[in-house]
Amino acid sequence: MKIICIGRNYVAHAKELNNEVPESPVFFLKPDSALVIANRPFFYPEFSKDVQYELEVVIRINRLGRSIEEQYANRYFNEVALGVDFTARDLQAEQKKKGLPWEIAKGFDYSAPVSEFFPLKEFGDIHTLSFRLDLNGKTVQEGNTSLMIFSFEKIIAYVSRFMTLKTGDLIYTGTPAGVGPVAINDRLEAYLEGKKLMDFPVK
Ligand code: MG
Repeated sequence: MKIICIGRNYVAHAKELNNEVPESPVFFLKPDSALVIANRPFFYPEFSKDVQYELEVVIRINRLGRSIEEQYANRYFNEVALGVDFTARDLQAEQKKKGLPWEIAKGFDYSAPVSEFFPLKEFGDIHTLSFRLDLNGKTVQEGNTSLMIFSFEKIIAYVSRFMTLKTGDLIYTGTPAGVGPVAINDRLEAYLEGKKLMDFPVK
C-alpha cells in the first residue's frame, strides 16, 4: 500500500507557511514503514530539531482505480480516520530551499500515525466534518472539511491520473492552520466530530 499526502489544502495553512494557494492538488508519498497504528507512541527522530504535527482527515481506498472521474470518486472510499502527518520542518525548509524532494522531512519512520477507521455513515456528511487536535490538553488545531481547497473527490480524480489507486491505499487530505512543534513527553489527542480517535505520546 501507499500513503498519499496532500499539501496546502487549506488556505489558512498555506498562508501560515508562506506558500501559494495551489491551482491543482500538491501531493507526495510516505512509505508504509511510516505508519503507526493503535495509538502507539511517536518516537522523536534524532535527525531533526523541529518536528511538527499536522492533523489531517484520512480516507482509505476500497477498490482499484485509475483515471477516476470526479463524479464517480465517492465510490472509491467508504471509511474515514484521523492521522498526523509529522514533518521535520527544519529538513523540509532546507530541501525546499535547494529545490529537492521532501522524503527525508516527510517519510521517516513513525511519521504517519493513523487512528482506527470508521464507516463514513457514522459521521454523516464527509464534506462538513469538524476535527481538532489537542496538545497537552490545549486545542492547537481546529478544522472542517468544508474548508478544503480540493475535495476528497477532486483529490482522487487528480491523483489517479498519475498513479493507480489500490485497495488499502491511504490519503491524508491536508492540514488546517495551527501547525507547530512537538517535544518528548507531549500528549496528542485528536477528535473527529467530537469523538476522540487518537491519544498517543511523544517519546
Ligand atoms: Mg500535511
